[in-house]
Amino acid sequence: MKKEPFVTLKQLKEITKTYPTPFYLYDEKGIRENARALKEAFAWNPGYKEYFAVKATPNPYLIEILRDYGCGCDCSSMTELMLSDAIGVRGEDIMFSSNDTPAEEFAYAAKLGAIINLDDYTHIDFLEQTIGYIPETISCRYNPGGVFQISNDIMDNPGDSKYGMTKEQLFDAYRVLMAKGAEHFGLHAFLASNTVTNEYYPMLAKVLFETAVELKKETGADIRFINLSGGVGIPYRPDQEANDIRAIGEGVRKVYEEVLVPAGMGDVAIYTELGRFMMGPYGCLVTKAIHEKHTHKEYIGCDACAVNLMRPAMYGAYHHITVMGKENEPLDHVYDVTGSLCENNDKFAIDRELPKIDKGDLLVIHDTGAHGFAMGYNYNGKLKSAELLLREDGSVQLIRRAETAKDYFATFDCFDILKDLVQA
Ligand SMILES: *Cc1c(COP(=O)(O)O)cnc(C)c1O
Repeated sequence: MKKEPFVTLKQLKEITKTYPTPFYLYDEKGIRENARALKEAFAWNPGYKEYFAVKATPNPYLIEILRDYGCGCDCSSMTELMLSDAIGVRGEDIMFSSNDTPAEEFAYAAKLGAIINLDDYTHIDFLEQTIGYIPETISCRYNPGGVFQISNDIMDNPGDSKYGMTKEQLFDAYRVLMAKGAEHFGLHAFLASNTVTNEYYPMLAKVLFETAVELKKETGADIRFINLSGGVGIPYRPDQEANDIRAIGEGVRKVYEEVLVPAGMGDVAIYTELGRFMMGPYGCLVTKAIHEKHTHKEYIGCDACAVNLMRPAMYGAYHHITVMGKENEPLDHVYDVTGSLCENNDKFAIDRELPKIDKGDLLVIHDTGAHGFAMGYNYNGKLKSAELLLREDGSVQLIRRAETAKDYFATFDCFDILKDLVQA
């Protein structure tokens, strides 16, 4: 797939007059078109609902766009729950899919009426002791172990992952929950991440649907929904083919009709908790080249660093880079594109073929709309950037201001020595 920015150099030049680089820019049009396509792909299932994985892009303005397409919020921490509550997402519009959960988070999720998705068998007692009851509707997270394989391709390794219950625990959990008063059940699993294939969801659906049929038969539980969670990926590399969400929806429908309908479970709702797929391609990090360095390698230093986008440093992840205005120039230079952290892994690209980059050039780092800004941190005392929304009408809205030194020092407000900085 050819990688093209959703913003032009002319637009960026205009935007940088008001907002200095680096910043995140999001594409309202792309977010809307994609959310609409997802909704249509699962329209065959009357109860279908996407719970956007808030951790991917925890910005209320962006989540409010998704609300227009019926999306709820998938939360896994206190502040994610608070964010959802703040924008009026409450009750069964929240899926609380946490793990290693602190008591106060269960308590707050229950207070908001969220659907609680239990990660472990032992959390049944922990939850009951914390909130004093077992909710009427509750979900359990399943981990079948082993490796998750599509054809001959190992997609991921659930046997090594900390999430979910074994099959035996899952069946016991349903029985115990029923004995404690639970009436309606959900089933959840997340078995592979960033899958760039239309086969993942249908394969996962088969595992979950067959398990649900068995669960119903053996425990008599009233299974209301099956949550396919996240994991549908995006093509970060230009040589990858994007998923076709219609084909994915159709694939899940086929399995639904093969497995659930004959078992008398044709009223089960399908839920998803997509993060990356909803936002990844519709955000980019815009940064400026501020240095070029010629030593044992050729380096371009930019004004963003791993604090703004951690994925390359953390996972060696590929993010495509467009040098704005030089889209048609030959890729006849090989650069490491770096940030300014005192960490040698602070590189957005290593040995990347790019056109000649000059100081002042604007670089668009693609596909940073999910798990990008959200993973930011403050190493070297670097500050997080602003987030901007490119509206459908071409205007630009500031949806999160850049951090200032005052924000950075705010947690020292208990010390006199930094009082002036905190108040500045
Ligand atoms: C991270 C996460 C998601 C979203 O994953 P994506 O890969 O962004 O789709 C969904 N559900 C749970 C429980 C998660 O932890």
